[in-house]
Amino acid sequence: MAYMRQIAAEVDPQTAQKANASTSCFLCDAFQTDMLSEDASMRGVLHVAKHNVILLNRYPYTNGHLLIAPASHVNSLSDLSPDARAEMMELTEVTQRMMRQALNCQGINVGMNLGRCAGAGVPGHIHQHVVPRWEGDTNFMQTIGGVRVQPQALDQSYAHLRQELQKLL
Ligand SMILES: [Zn+2]
Repeated sequence: MAYMRQIAAEVDPQTAQKANASTSCFLCDAFQTDMLSEDASMRGVLHVAKHNVILLNRYPYTNGHLLIAPASHVNSLSDLSPDARAEMMELTEVTQRMMRQALNCQGINVGMNLGRCAGAGVPGHIHQHVVPRWEGDTNFMQTIGGVRVQPQALDQSYAHLRQELQKLL
């Protein structure tokens, strides 16, 4: 189960709350984002679909680590509509394609942590992790040890990833 442990650490909920004072959940906020406003880049939101939102993880394992979250603040896949679940997988596929093209990654981790004991940092609002990987990037121990990229790198990648995603949507 190394793979599931690899995606175990995630968003720091306290910091996420500070950055989003309007509600207690930054994933709910992300879905409400007006993509024409500056809120989009501040929140790292790349795309708002009918049932889900795609955004940058503020605490990524690696540059380009994205989250796909449903509009509903629910803690189980069972609480989503079939349409929302299906759209989440469609967006995962588009994200995978975008990552391979835009980031030239050689592998991708996709997965969810359901429940706090499974590693969910935001256990109340499920979200899919999509993490690009390269040969020779951080090894397993470094990854679970919490290697972080610099915020500057995140800001630079936002516009690029958003543009590349729009080409495929
Ligand atoms: Zn929420």
